[in-house]
Amino acid sequence: MRAFVQTCDTIAATAKKLEKIQLASELLRSLPLKEAARAAIFLTGRAFPRNDERVLGVGGMQLYRLVGELAGKEPGHLRDVYRQHGDLGTVAEQLLGAADRDGDVSLSEVADAFRKLPSLRSPAQKHALLSSLFARASASDVKYIIKVITGDLRIGLKENLVEEAIAKCFARAIADVRRANMLTGDIGETLRLAARDALASAAVTLFHPLHFMLAASIETPAELFDESPGAFLVEEKYDGIRAQAHKSAGQVKFFSRTLDEITEFPELTEPVGCLPGTFILDGEILAWQDTHPLPFTELQKRLGRKQDQMNLWEQHGVPVKFVCFDLLYRDGETLLDIPLHERRARLDNLLAGSRDSHMQVAPSTLCHSSDRMTELFRASLAAGHEGIVAKAPDSPYTPGRRGGYWFKLKEPFATLDVVVTAVEYGHGKRHGVLSDYTFAVRHENQLLNIGKAYSGLNDKEIAQLTDYFLRHTTQEEGFRRVVEPTVVIEVAFNNIQKSNRHSSGYALRFPRIERLRPDKSVAEIDTLDRVAQLYAKQFAHAPLALES
Ligand code: AMP
Repeated sequence: MRAFVQTCDTIAATAKKLEKIQLASELLRSLPLKEAARAAIFLTGRAFPRNDERVLGVGGMQLYRLVGELAGKEPGHLRDVYRQHGDLGTVAEQLLGAADRDGDVSLSEVADAFRKLPSLRSPAQKHALLSSLFARASASDVKYIIKVITGDLRIGLKENLVEEAIAKCFARAIADVRRANMLTGDIGETLRLAARDALASAAVTLFHPLHFMLAASIETPAELFDESPGAFLVEEKYDGIRAQAHKSAGQVKFFSRTLDEITEFPELTEPVGCLPGTFILDGEILAWQDTHPLPFTELQKRLGRKQDQMNLWEQHGVPVKFVCFDLLYRDGETLLDIPLHERRARLDNLLAGSRDSHMQVAPSTLCHSSDRMTELFRASLAAGHEGIVAKAPDSPYTPGRRGGYWFKLKEPFATLDVVVTAVEYGHGKRHGVLSDYTFAVRHENQLLNIGKAYSGLNDKEIAQLTDYFLRHTTQEEGFRRVVEPTVVIEVAFNNIQKSNRHSSGYALRFPRIERLRPDKSVAEIDTLDRVAQLYAKQFAHAPLALES
C-alpha cells in the first residue's frame, strides 16, 4: 500500500488535472500488473469494479467504533476530531498516527479482505477481520482503506481521470480505454487489456448495464437541418423511464439510467423473456392506457413499491408498456458500431413475432425537411408525448454520450403573449429588415420588457412588420427604434430566469416567436404576475425516484 498511499497524498495535494493523471499513471507503471489492476479500482474510490454488485456491508458507525477502539480513544474525543475533518479516514490517520504505529499491508491483502467481507454475515465477524487488517497496517494505509470502504477517496480523482492515467501509462488511445471500460465495467480489466494491447477485444457482458446514449437539445427543427443537412429518423419522445432490458436463457433484468436494476414492473419480464435468443434492448417504460400514453406522474406512482405490493399493482395499478427503440447486442454480437438504421431493422426482426401488448417497437419516420419534422413534432404532442427525438440514421450507439447523433425537441415550457416595444435591424440576410423584437408583459398600467426574440416569423411576416414599425416608430435610437406597443406576439421559451437585463426583473431563455396574435390587444397580454407564477412553477417538481 505504501506507494499507493504516497501517490494518493500527492494527488490530493495538487489541483492540476494533468499532474493528477501523471502521478496516477506513474503509480500504475511502477506496480506489477496484478497490483496495478487492483490499484486502478481503488483509485476510483471503489472496493470492487463498477460491474460488480457485491457490497462490503460495513457501516460508517461500525468503522467509527473500530477506529476508536484501535486508537484507545473515547467516543467524545473521536467526535471532536471528526468535526474537525469531516472524514473518517483522516480521523483514523490522525489518531493512529499519534499512536506511533508502524505497519504496511499490501494491496493484495486489502483486496483479499474486501473479497471476504461480503460473505461474512455478522457485524462481529466483519469487525474482527477489519480489526486484524488495520492492526497490520500503517495509519495512512488505514486512512485509504477506510476511504475506499466509504466509497470516496476525496483526492479529486474520478474514474475518467483513472482512464486517462491508464491510457498514458500504456500509451493507448484514450477513446479505446474509455470504450473498453464502458463495455467491461471493470477498470482493472481495462488496465489488463491496455497492457496486452487488447482493448479492442472488450465486449458487452449481459446483465452488466451499459451507459445510455443521450440526446442533445435543439430549439427548432430548422437548427438541425441548417447544421447537418440530410435525413433523420424521427421518433416520439416518451415521457417515461429509460430502461435497458437484458435477456439470456429465460432470465430478464431491466436497468435504469442510473444503472440500477428496475424491479417495479414484473409484467414486463415475460414479454421480454419470450423473445428468442440473448439480447440487450434500449427503450422507455411508459404508463399506457388502451391507445394512449399517460403522464409520467402516473408511472411515478409505481416506483419504489415494495416487492409484496407489486403483484397487486400489476393487477390494479397503472398499466405499463416497454417501447423499444434500439438493439445493442444480440446472440454474441455487439451491435454498438453498426448504423442505427441497421440496428432498427434487427430490432424489428427480433420483435416481429411478439404480439404482447406490453411491448412494441417505437415507430420511426425518415424525415428530410424541417417542415416535415415540425409536423411530426406536432403530431407527437397531439398523441400525448413530450416531443420528438431525431436520430442520425448512420450513427453508432455511443454509450454515455450526449450530442452528435441524437437530438431532442421538447414541448415548450409555456408560451407568453407579449407586446413588441422596440425593434432592431437583423443580421446577415435580414440586415435590411426590422427582425429583432424586444417585447414586454403588463404590470398594472406599465409595460415591462422581458426579452428579445429574432426567430420564428417567416420573411413575408417580417417584411410586413418592418413596413408597419417604420410607420409607428415613436423614437429612433440609432440602430434601435422604440415603437408603439400594438403588435402582440406569442413567444415560446425554455425557462425563465431572474435577471436585471430587462425592466421586468426576469429574462426568458431561448425565446422564439410562435406566432403573431393579431386577435389580441395590448390589454390582453400576459402580466408580470403570470411570469412570476411560471417562474415559481419551474421549481415545483418534486425530486423523482428515477430520472426519465
Ligand atoms: P431528457 O430527459 O429531456 O434529457 O431527454 C432524454 C431522455 O429522453 C432519454 O433519457 C430517454 O429517457 C427519453 N426518451 C424518450 N423517448 C426517446 C426516444 N425515442 N429515443 C431516445 N430517448 C428517448
